[in-house]
Amino acid sequence: MHSKNLKAATKCVHAGTISDPVGNGVNSPIIPSSATRFLDLEDNVYPRYFNTPNQNAVASKLCALEQGEAGLILSSGMAAISTVFTTLLKPGDHAVIQDQIYGGTYFFVVNELEKLGISYTLVKGSALDSFESAIRPNSKLIYFETPSNPLLKIYDVRGIASLARNHQLLSIIDNTFASPINQNPLTLGVDVVMHSGTKYLGGHSDLCFGALITSGELQQQFRKTAINWGGSLDAVTCYQVERSLKTLSLRVHRQNENAMYLANALDQHTGVRAVYYPGLKHHPNHHLACEQMNGFGGMLSFELANEGSAVSFCKRLKLVAPALSLGGVETIISIPCLTSHIKMSAQERLAAGISDDLLRLSVGIEDPEDLLADLVAAMD
Ligand SMILES: *Cc1c(COP(=O)(O)O)cnc(C)c1O
Repeated sequence: MHSKNLKAATKCVHAGTISDPVGNGVNSPIIPSSATRFLDLEDNVYPRYFNTPNQNAVASKLCALEQGEAGLILSSGMAAISTVFTTLLKPGDHAVIQDQIYGGTYFFVVNELEKLGISYTLVKGSALDSFESAIRPNSKLIYFETPSNPLLKIYDVRGIASLARNHQLLSIIDNTFASPINQNPLTLGVDVVMHSGTKYLGGHSDLCFGALITSGELQQQFRKTAINWGGSLDAVTCYQVERSLKTLSLRVHRQNENAMYLANALDQHTGVRAVYYPGLKHHPNHHLACEQMNGFGGMLSFELANEGSAVSFCKRLKLVAPALSLGGVETIISIPCLTSHIKMSAQERLAAGISDDLLRLSVGIEDPEDLLADLVAAMD
């Protein structure tokens, strides 16, 4: 059966699997060779050419999940992001970029683009007008991310994609927070989907990779650049990724449910001043989230009512680990002003709505009652 007709949970398990003529196993074999016979092949197979069987297996599974034509698997999310910018932009070009983006992307933009003679505008807020007024005659692309980090703001995927198209620009989305289970931007008109696979796709906080899913034509352009930068992924990690992806749908559905449960419970708790979660009816973009997402995701943030208590609260947690990263099966908590947003000045953080009391929760797959009990116990 063609995988296009299958549902996401089935694609997670089956799409892209390589046949195993030697072992007759149901799993893809791991094929680690970096030297391959060339006489019978059109294309030289080599890990840094992004065309080994295990790389292709992961790319195929992610293509099936994101409903894209072609994919590229890289050694990190940042390898994917730097490939996007350096493929699509040349000296003299301009890029339109959302201001509340992942810290690593922000630092790539402010530290590297100028050196390459590329200018950019960081767009404040999520209004389409703000994106439109940032477009210049030499603009080539719009880069954005939704839900945003750490306040879970929702940007209009369809609106930004059509704005880009109307101005003959390419649109690129970082779809890491939503995962392909909760949001499929290619079906909403976006040109390129990027993932930090280190998060939900890997899902067990034990590996690092990145992915680009797009049209066949753009994939070829990205691959050409990526071969020069060299950020490829080895066969064993590709196999671990393939294995992780088999449970992606199960994991993310559970994470969606757990996050909704915790968001509701925290929202009603007197020890909590505010909860930011797109699944809550009072979230300012709840309706937009309902329109463009299949689930609200496993990320939420909140502020404790007791000012200045974020660090002591985290120290009292027994189950939830204060840790960096996100998207794993275990629930972890971070304090953005001390972690992801530490390089911003206090004033910049305030302007972005990131208070010193803000806590960001990456909800795992544990029993939600145990998670809530741990959070509530740490408040008292
Ligand atoms: C982690 C992350 C990245 C960067 O990915 P790496 O795999 O760490 O290079 C990019 N975007 C978002 C939203 C992330 O969370």
